Amino acid sequence: MTVVVLPTDSPVALADAVATAGHHLRAGQLVAFPTETVYGLGAHALDPAAIARLYAAKGRPSHNPVIVHVADVAAARELSRDWPEAAARLAEAHWPGPLTLVVRKRAEVPAAVTAGLDRVAIRIPDHPVALALLRAAAVPVAAPSANRSGGVSPTTAAHVVDSLGDRVDLVLDGGPTAVGIESTVVDVTTDPPTLLRPGMLSSAAVAGTLGVVPRVPGAVGEEDARPSPGMLARHYAPEAQVRLVRSGAAAMRDALREVAAPGVRVGAVTWSLEVPGGAATGLRLPEDPAGYARELYAALHRLDGAADILLVELPPEGAAWDAIHDRLHRASTPPEGA
Ligand code: AMP
Ligand code: MG
Repeated sequence: MTVVVLPTDSPVALADAVATAGHHLRAGQLVAFPTETVYGLGAHALDPAAIARLYAAKGRPSHNPVIVHVADVAAARELSRDWPEAAARLAEAHWPGPLTLVVRKRAEVPAAVTAGLDRVAIRIPDHPVALALLRAAAVPVAAPSANRSGGVSPTTAAHVVDSLGDRVDLVLDGGPTAVGIESTVVDVTTDPPTLLRPGMLSSAAVAGTLGVVPRVPGAVGEEDARPSPGMLARHYAPEAQVRLVRSGAAAMRDALREVAAPGVRVGAVTWSLEVPGGAATGLRLPEDPAGYARELYAALHRLDGAADILLVELPPEGAAWDAIHDRLHRASTPPEGA
């Protein structure tokens, strides 16, 4: 595995690094690269052998489809059997950006990419390195988060290296990612469209663009509800046991007392409080949702090795925090069978 630190001050060196990486992708190799959400593990989306390597490297279950990244709307449409009005509007308003659209796929998209579904998830990432790489590769690039399946998504190149090591051929290091959690996923094959996964592009922003509120899988009275296949209850989870704690000093104190035991290292992640003195380790995250999302995964990566139990102070309620609550709840769901 090679790590290339991208020179921010030299367009020529950047173009060079990206050209090499594009070559790797076209040749069927795996290239990790920064996007604005998290680091992606890229593979040639139309090459079934490359996709097989991608799933093997991540240890990703074959029933969990991957998102295909492209550089422009024309390339997205080439993968799609049709391009509904809702797709056109959302793409126009929010691409490049942290939004994934699920559309009906063309036959050329391998079944392995979509876990056998007749729909494909597509996005244009809002990151100069990702866009340059996609243009250099000149092929659609399947890119789930660049970590072993089930773990916390990487927001730095070092997280990628820690998780995947030699399972990845090349890592482009473009510094920490800006959004910090995975994209909002909207299925535009339903009417109204369905919000399959919340992200930092809010449901309200999607509704504003569409002129209609997207539905949520599992809503009552919905006949053809199909939850997004990869939305396993436990996902994005660190090794340490995560416990969500009501906001405030008193609840945190009680939780610390409750889990205290000889030999158990307790960590705390707070936002409204200082890290309590009773915790062996901890981090305080920003009080605004964008800042919190940006730093959350790095905090989980950092504290994971240092704590057996992580007490996480629940962030405020409210639409701007929905995607963060979603990820925290997944991280705190006990592993299956436990
Ligand atoms: P990530 O692991 O961040 O790449 O996100 C992939 C997620 O996008 C999957 O776990 C699904 O929830 C969703 N997704 C990807 N492809 C599809 C698809 N064809 N249909 C529905 N959801 C999809
Ligand atoms: Mg992932």
